[in-house]
Amino acid sequence: MEFKYDVIVIGGGHAGCEAARIAAVLGARTVLVTMDLTKLAQMSCNPAMGGVAKGQIIREIDALGGMSGIVTDRSMIQFRMLNRSKGPAMWSPRAQCDRMLFSREWRKNLENTENLYLWQEPVVKLIIEEGKVQGVETAFGTRFLGKAVILTSGTFLNGLMHVGMKNFQGGRSGDMASVGISEQLKKIGFKVERLKTGTSARVDGRSIDFKKMTEQKGDGEGRAFSYMHDNVMIEDEKSCFITYTNEEVHNELRKGLEFSPLFKGIIKGRGPRYCPSVEDKIVTFREKEKHQLFIEPEGRETNEYYINGFASSLPLEVQLNALRKVDGLENVEIYRPGYAIEYDYFQPTQLKHTLETKRIEGLYFAGQVNGTTGYEEAAAQGLMAGINAVQKIKGEKEFILTRDEAYIGVLIDDLVIKGVDEPYRMFTSRAEYRILLRQDNADERLTKKGYEIGTVNKERIERLREKEEMVNEIVELLKKESVDPAEINDFLKKKETTPISQKTKAVNVVLRPQVTLEEVLNRMKKTKGLKVFASGRKDEILECAEIKIKYEGYIKREKQIAEKIKRLEELKIPEDIKYEELLSISTEGRQKLNKIKPTSIGQASRISGVSPADINVLLMYLGR
Ligand code: FAD
Repeated sequence: MEFKYDVIVIGGGHAGCEAARIAAVLGARTVLVTMDLTKLAQMSCNPAMGGVAKGQIIREIDALGGMSGIVTDRSMIQFRMLNRSKGPAMWSPRAQCDRMLFSREWRKNLENTENLYLWQEPVVKLIIEEGKVQGVETAFGTRFLGKAVILTSGTFLNGLMHVGMKNFQGGRSGDMASVGISEQLKKIGFKVERLKTGTSARVDGRSIDFKKMTEQKGDGEGRAFSYMHDNVMIEDEKSCFITYTNEEVHNELRKGLEFSPLFKGIIKGRGPRYCPSVEDKIVTFREKEKHQLFIEPEGRETNEYYINGFASSLPLEVQLNALRKVDGLENVEIYRPGYAIEYDYFQPTQLKHTLETKRIEGLYFAGQVNGTTGYEEAAAQGLMAGINAVQKIKGEKEFILTRDEAYIGVLIDDLVIKGVDEPYRMFTSRAEYRILLRQDNADERLTKKGYEIGTVNKERIERLREKEEMVNEIVELLKKESVDPAEINDFLKKKETTPISQKTKAVNVVLRPQVTLEEVLNRMKKTKGLKVFASGRKDEILECAEIKIKYEGYIKREKQIAEKIKRLEELKIPEDIKYEELLSISTEGRQKLNKIKPTSIGQASRISGVSPADINVLLMYLGR
C-alpha cells in the first residue's frame, strides 16, 4: 500500500508528537508513524517536566504554540517553582506528572488535530532518491511518500539494554529496537555514534515506609506551565519523599561491581555526566557517605514510584539488596528493574540550524537521535523541525531562534555548531543571556514570532497583549507616582530598610531588595484602578512587572551585549568559500570550518578549535 502526505514523522515520543502536531497546525497533511500508539509521549525515565533551564524550554515551546506545557498542566500532580531563593529571574517551574495521563492527553490532542493522521508500525527504511528524501517504508511494506521526513526515533536505533551481564535488544523497557535506519544512513555517509543512558527501578508504594523519609510537598499554590492557563490549582497535590543511601547500601552495590556492564567495559557508549548511575556515583565520589534519593509518584491511579538518583544497570539482585538497605525501603518490592540502554545517535554537526540534514534534502532529525537527553530538549527540537519542514515545503523563510532569543536557540546552536560526545542536556550555564531568557517572559520573546508564522492562534496573542498592557500600566504608574514618608515609612522600618525623608518615586522603593512590588502597591493610594487587580492573572503579572523593574539595569546591559554579538551573526560567510585556500587559518580551524560550514562569523567563532586569530583571517577575507 502507498499513501501520500506532505510531512512524515517517524516516532511518537516528545519530539515526534510536537513535530507532527505543529506541522499539521501549519496546514501540512501530516502522518505520525510510530511503533506503539498507546505510548505516545511516553516518559521513559521519571515522569517530571521542567526544572532548571528545562522549565524555561517548556515555557518557550508553549509560547510558540507547542503542546508540552498544556499537556503538563493537564497531567501534573505536583508543582514546584525551583530556585526561589535565587530571585525571580532564576526561577524554574517543575511538575511531577501522572505518566499515563500525560500520554493520554497527548493522544487526545493529536487525534483531534486537523490534517494529522496516526499510524502504528515500525519504519525500517527511508526512501531517498538523488539526495532527496521521498518517504519511508514500514516493516509490513507500507510506503508513505512525502515532501519532508522528520526522524525522531529516540533511544530506539539499535537500542541494547543491559541489566548486569544480561543484555538484549530493545528501544526501552517493553519496546523493541529499531533496526535498519541507522545502517542505511551510515551507508550513505552519516556519522553514527553510540551513547548510553539509564534509569532506576520502579517500586511498589505499598512496600515503602514513608514515615522514615522527609516529605517534599508541592508549592500548594496555583501555577501553570502554559501561558494560556490562569493558575492551575492541583487538587490533592501528591508529595515526593527524600531519603539517602548509606554505607550499607554502598557495600551492597560494591559487591555487584564485578557484574557491572559499565565497569566491565561491555557498555561502550558514553552516559550523561550529570545523571550518573548510582554505581558510577559510589565509585567516582568514593568519599561521600550518602547520596540523596527522591521517591517520586508515577501517577494518581498507581502505586508505582520512581527512585530518582538510583539509576543502575547492576544485576537485579544487587539492585534489590542495595535498595532494601535504604531507610524506608527495607521491605521494598520492585515493579521493574533499573537498566541501561545504549543506542545510536547522529552527530548533530551534520544538521543545519533548521534541523534539516546537510546531506539529504527534506530529511530532518529531532530529539534524542541528535545526542540530547531529556523530554524538554526533545520536544523543543521536534517543534522546530516540524515548523521548518513546513516552512520549506511552503517556500517560506527558515525559522531559527538565536541564542539571545531562547534556550531553544542555544540548544540547537550548540548541537549544530559544537556537536555532542556525551548526552547533551540543557543548563542555565550554557546560555550567555540568562537574564533575558527567563521563564516569565518566554511569551514576550516568542509568541509574536509564532503568530507571524501561524503556530500561535488569536487567543494566545490576545493574552500576550493583555499581559503586556497590564505590566506596562504598573511600571508606568510606579515611574510616575511618588510615595510620601507618611504612607510608607512604617512599612519600610518593619522591613528593616531605611525610611524615606521626602516624597520618592515609587519605582525607587520597589528597587529595594527588602520589599516586593505587591507590598508597595498595597500601600499606595493610587492603585485601585489597575487592571491587574480585576484579572485572574495577578501573580503572573506582578511577578513579571517586578522582574522588569528590579532587573532593569541587568536586562539593558545583556541586551546591549547581545546586540553587539548579533552584528557578528549578521556577517554572512558565502556558501562557496574555499577554506582549503585560506592558509593563514590554522589547520584545525580549516578542518572544523569545512566540516561544520558555519553560515556567519558569529557561528564560526563558537566552533571549538577555531581561534580568534582564525576569525580575524576570516574577517579580513570578508573585507572587514
Ligand atoms: P523517545 O521518547 O525515545 O521516543 C521515540 C519514539 O520513536 C517512540 O515512540 C518509538 O516507538 C518511536 N520509534 C523509534 N523507532 C521507530 C521506528 N523505526 N518506526 C516507528 N517508530 C519508531 N532523560 C533525562 O532527561 N534524564 C534521564 O535520566 C533520562 N533517562 C533515561 C533512561 C532511559 C532508560 C531512557 C530510555 C531514556 C531516558 N531519558 C532521560 C531520555 C528521555 O526519555 C528522552 O530524552 C526523551 O524521551 C527523548 O524523546 P524523543 O522524542 O527523542 O524519543
